[in-house]
Amino acid sequence: MTRPHVLIAGAGIAGPSLAWWLSRRGWRVTVVERARALRTGGQAVDFRGPVHRTVLERMGLWEAIHERRTRLGAQALIDATGRTVTELPALMMSGDVELQRGDLCQLLFERTRDQVEYRFGDSPTALHETPEGVEVAFEQHAPQRFDLVVGADGLRSNVRSRVFGRDDGHLKHHGFRVVGCTLPNVLGLRQRGVIYSEPGRGVCVTSARADDEARAMFVFTGAPLGPQERSPDAAREAVSAAFAGAGWRTAQLVEALHGAEDLYFDAISSVRLPRYSHGRVVLLGDAAWGGTLGGQGTPMAMVGAYVLAGELLANPDAHAQAFARFEARLRPYALKCQGGASHVGGFFAPRTRAGLFLRNHIYGLLTTKPLERVFEKLVTHAATGFALPDYT
Ligand SMILES: Cc1cc2nc3c(=O)[nH]c(=O)nc-3n(C[C@H](O)[C@H](O)[C@H](O)COP(=O)(O)OP(=O)(O)OC[C@H]3O[C@@H](n4cnc5c(N)ncnc54)[C@H](O)[C@@H]3O)c2cc1C
Repeated sequence: MTRPHVLIAGAGIAGPSLAWWLSRRGWRVTVVERARALRTGGQAVDFRGPVHRTVLERMGLWEAIHERRTRLGAQALIDATGRTVTELPALMMSGDVELQRGDLCQLLFERTRDQVEYRFGDSPTALHETPEGVEVAFEQHAPQRFDLVVGADGLRSNVRSRVFGRDDGHLKHHGFRVVGCTLPNVLGLRQRGVIYSEPGRGVCVTSARADDEARAMFVFTGAPLGPQERSPDAAREAVSAAFAGAGWRTAQLVEALHGAEDLYFDAISSVRLPRYSHGRVVLLGDAAWGGTLGGQGTPMAMVGAYVLAGELLANPDAHAQAFARFEARLRPYALKCQGGASHVGGFFAPRTRAGLFLRNHIYGLLTTKPLERVFEKLVTHAATGFALPDYT
């Protein structure tokens, strides 16, 4: 291929990361994003261990990310009186460095916008593979042929359903729902967070960049959600119902939630796919291995983009080989990191009193001085368990 032209669907984290790697080596990259503007919402995302750090350093982002870090400290598991039961070190909840998802999204966009064509407010409507490439039809733009198509369009990937079929089995539900939002800082938190749990429901509140704001996450047991059931109004209703009669200052937080504007509502689930690619189409990030929460989706998206770019640049005329090598390298790592998504609901909202008691005591023990190293290993082992290839 002479100067291959790649279409990337999705301007979240995975898409612009891949665009950065390919465009700087002379590939033509078009990113199509369904939203009318960059989606800079979301809570904090973190990076931990040398694999994540090396990728950020190779992208020249380590300093910029540090400048934007949240500086969040420890988070406390508290009881109904607000008393700290166990203090969770910053490394567990915020990794080595943490920043707001929106800041990272903006940073990646700024670093790529001059070399990459971004088309907002559009989406692929059909993909047809020919021996020469992939003919793509769009909602807005005229049809166009690309050498390769990358689906980096998130947990409910449109590209995935067009290529692999609309199979609900691709999303494995873990039995919990989550609502995230920004609230007034009614708890007066400063660079710290608290987690209050009762059987089947839990709320985590952390300080935000502005002193008068806090980030809240309500986690509760519940069935999967259809696309019409994830609206802000549905989120308010679901939290009100799930947290009715809950103790501590939960009622105050639920009331504050009714004024929140940036509500995010989803079921906690993760993607299970038999393959990441089909012909000239490959999936990346949440579209391929994502999880709603707890699966290190953001660093995984960036490590994945690094490996996919490395394999494509090393095999520019053999996309099938590049895709196969990408999947062989990434899949075991993605599966390991995805493991977190199946436990995260039970961590914030243990289903039973006994489960809650056990969680508090296990974390109480693990965070004691003699077990410091064991704990450190526990909270970083998935992230560090990958031999990052060197493509330089
Ligand atoms: C608004 C938002 C808030 C989030 N908040 C959090 C959070 O608080 N905590 C957390 O851990 N993770 C959050 N995530 C998920 C997190 O960004 C991902 O897990 C991770 O960064 C992997 O990134 P990704 O690029 O694969 O997916 P995403 O970051 O989800 O990006 C996918 C992009 O594809 C776009 N897209 C979707 N469908 C189409 C289509 N048909 N055509 C074109 N584009 C399409 C989406 O609008 C989005 O911009 C959030 C994602 C979004 C979009």
